[in-house]
Amino acid sequence: MIRSRKDKRKSNHSPAVERKLRKVRLSRKQTHAVILFPAPFPNAIANLGFLTIWDRLNTAGDFLCDRAVWDPRHPSEPEGIETGLPLSAFPLIFISSSTELDLPAVIDALIASGIEPEAGSRQGRPLIVAGGITLTLNPAPWAPLLDLAILGEGEDAILPWISLYADWQKQSGSRPELLQASSALPFLWIPDQEDRMVTPARYESFTEHPAFSTVVHPDGHFGDCFLIETTRGCPRRCKFCAACAAFSARFASADAIINTIDSTHCLTAPKVGLVGAAVGDHPRLKQIVAHVLLSGKEITLSSLRIESTDAELLDLLTEGGFRSLTIAPEAGSEGERFKLGKKATDADILKLAQIAAEKGINHLRMYFLIGLPEAEPADSIARLITWLRKETPSSLFLDLSVASFIPKPFTPWEGEPFAGIPTLDHVKKQIKDAIKPLSRVDVRFESTRMEQIAVLLSRGDRRIGEVLIAAKKSSRSFNQQIRLDNLDLTPYLAPADTDYILPWKVIHPHD
Ligand code: SF4
Repeated sequence: MIRSRKDKRKSNHSPAVERKLRKVRLSRKQTHAVILFPAPFPNAIANLGFLTIWDRLNTAGDFLCDRAVWDPRHPSEPEGIETGLPLSAFPLIFISSSTELDLPAVIDALIASGIEPEAGSRQGRPLIVAGGITLTLNPAPWAPLLDLAILGEGEDAILPWISLYADWQKQSGSRPELLQASSALPFLWIPDQEDRMVTPARYESFTEHPAFSTVVHPDGHFGDCFLIETTRGCPRRCKFCAACAAFSARFASADAIINTIDSTHCLTAPKVGLVGAAVGDHPRLKQIVAHVLLSGKEITLSSLRIESTDAELLDLLTEGGFRSLTIAPEAGSEGERFKLGKKATDADILKLAQIAAEKGINHLRMYFLIGLPEAEPADSIARLITWLRKETPSSLFLDLSVASFIPKPFTPWEGEPFAGIPTLDHVKKQIKDAIKPLSRVDVRFESTRMEQIAVLLSRGDRRIGEVLIAAKKSSRSFNQQIRLDNLDLTPYLAPADTDYILPWKVIHPHD
């Protein structure tokens, strides 16, 4: 059932309470496109890629673009937030993707909208163009669905393509003509030309013009918070990490960050969030934090470095209302941690946890990975947490988030195998049982079945996308469809044993 505009006004996510960087006046008759974020509204409002590209599209000449989200809990046809138009009313749909599992969500959103998920059946009506980190690493599973993908950083790259699209529309060109013209842009991946080499786009002005929230809404994932991207990529190059594989590492200049905070007045948000893969490594982090506090705002950070976070920084942060610290030890033992590229010792973790508790932080979130190549027994995570619980005050809640290793394209571990559902479920149970007797410790796991699907989509090719679409169209589970199609998963899950040609070999890696 399609919600009426009246229902939408009643919902918590009403656009009426949003604050935007600039007024965007879209009419139901004149809007050219929509950008879809395939996840619920709070995630969309906290995604700088989605918000930045939406803003960019509406500054491209007289091009007008709406935005929409997909919430699987309310699986009706998505509507443009600005116009209330159904997704199927737009001739051009952009998709902003940040995780592998966006592909099944996009297929669901298209089916719910009565739009053919296969590009071959749509014949450009509507045209679907996607971008984001997932596609930059490996767009191949999206091949059956997309007309085009923009690989790399889209901030500047989107504009020449919009100009090309506008010319094509004026000439009432055909879909093959648009794809042919698009092939002049080196960062465009065209599923119909799968062997063509692609060079992902780079946003050259990042250092001086970092991305920030162009829309703020109280229902955002971080609350009523103005986000600013202080770093892109990461110089540390951990062997499993997609963030450093997709983007070259750089820091936004502290002056640019401070100027952005001042000139936008953070769209009146009471809180500022510093985000990016390497926030804790920013060389002028303390100065930026101090500036946020001076401007009377609260502060939050995506995560901090274990070995470089000191008492002075924590003092500043707690002054700004910061009570929950996030770190990513990734592995339970020092040996495993060093092997994957993290330099933090167990003593570093304990020291940081103790200082954090002293400074009034009451929540320590820790990210761990299991099923890593040459993994040690699972009890290394349980041992570390048991020791931390014993040595830290009980005022500090220990909150673990444990996920399985997913091999990512362009990382040194891109060809390592997925450990498999039975092994990973066993490890998860071991951790859960070991943590149970500890007080004020919680652990959350991702679903291992979904993690296996994420591996298939991370390393997959066109065939994986075809099977997924067939499953969605017939309301079968992905696994049922895989069995029905007799698809051998070995090339995707245990690649060392096969001659599988990596589909992302057509993409030039960044420097
Ligand atoms: S430190 Fe974090 S962001 Fe940087 S490469 Fe390692 S895992 Fe990735």
